[in-house]
Amino acid sequence: MNVSLQDKVIVITGGARGIGKFTTEKLLEEGAKVVVLYNQSEKEAIEIKGKNRERVIIEKCDVSNYNEVEKCYSRILKQIDRIDVLINNAGIGNDEFLVLMSEENWKKVLECNLNGTFYCCKCFLKIMLYQGYGKIINIASLKGQEGSPQQSNYSASKAGIIALTRSLAKEVGGNNISVNAICPGFIETDLNRNYPVKKRKAIEKSVLKIDYCLRDYINFLIFLLSDEINGISGQVFNLDSRIL
Ligand code: NDP
Repeated sequence: MNVSLQDKVIVITGGARGIGKFTTEKLLEEGAKVVVLYNQSEKEAIEIKGKNRERVIIEKCDVSNYNEVEKCYSRILKQIDRIDVLINNAGIGNDEFLVLMSEENWKKVLECNLNGTFYCCKCFLKIMLYQGYGKIINIASLKGQEGSPQQSNYSASKAGIIALTRSLAKEVGGNNISVNAICPGFIETDLNRNYPVKKRKAIEKSVLKIDYCLRDYINFLIFLLSDEINGISGQVFNLDSRIL
């Protein structure tokens, strides 16, 4: 089997920090050219660029701002003429009981996670439609399927991403563009470092082996992006051992 990503052009949002940074590094190891979109992690993005000068493009892009996404898309197209894959990885949380949740908090999470995914799909689809080929991966979450207390904002945004994924897959399947969602297992990052110990223990008790989540996520992603998989679309992959 050939699971290489040699010369594939991959755009990843939030690609300079957390799971996104790890993903960027692994995609580069597999031979891909990576367009790293960052919002606040400029220093990290410059470091990634410095190590892989020829195969990395970095661009600042706040995915919650449509104008910024559109301008970023245009800047990228001045530098490359093909995009094989878009990974909508950027995401935030801001946990609070719903009754105490401000409208601003609700909007901020939805605007980044759900609107951001919509904006990037809307822009980057244009070149994929023109090419007659492309793969879109939206990073969702188990929380978007089963809900989570104090995370109604985050869970709703991820549920929206799942619905968007399935709908868009039906729209563009005929154009040879696949759209899938991945729900990674629990991976410790800035996003969940303060996750309550009680909740964490409950997860640990019921999963196979929590330490494998990041490794399995990246291996699965690379396989899905490779030419070995070309006929799967509209799916939501749960990459852990929690059972709904
Ligand atoms: P981190 O908090 O470590 O990283 C968040 C990433 O999102 C950063 O790269 C950040 O970029 C980017 N980002 C945030 N806001 C914006 C914005 N407005 N515009 C552009 N980029 C933005 O989180 P993770 O790495 O853990 O999460 C990555 C994805 O995985 C998210 O979608 C998350 O919901 C999902 N996920 C994570 C799980 C986990 O266990 N960690 C489990 C299930 C899903 P920058 O630093 O440049 O601002």
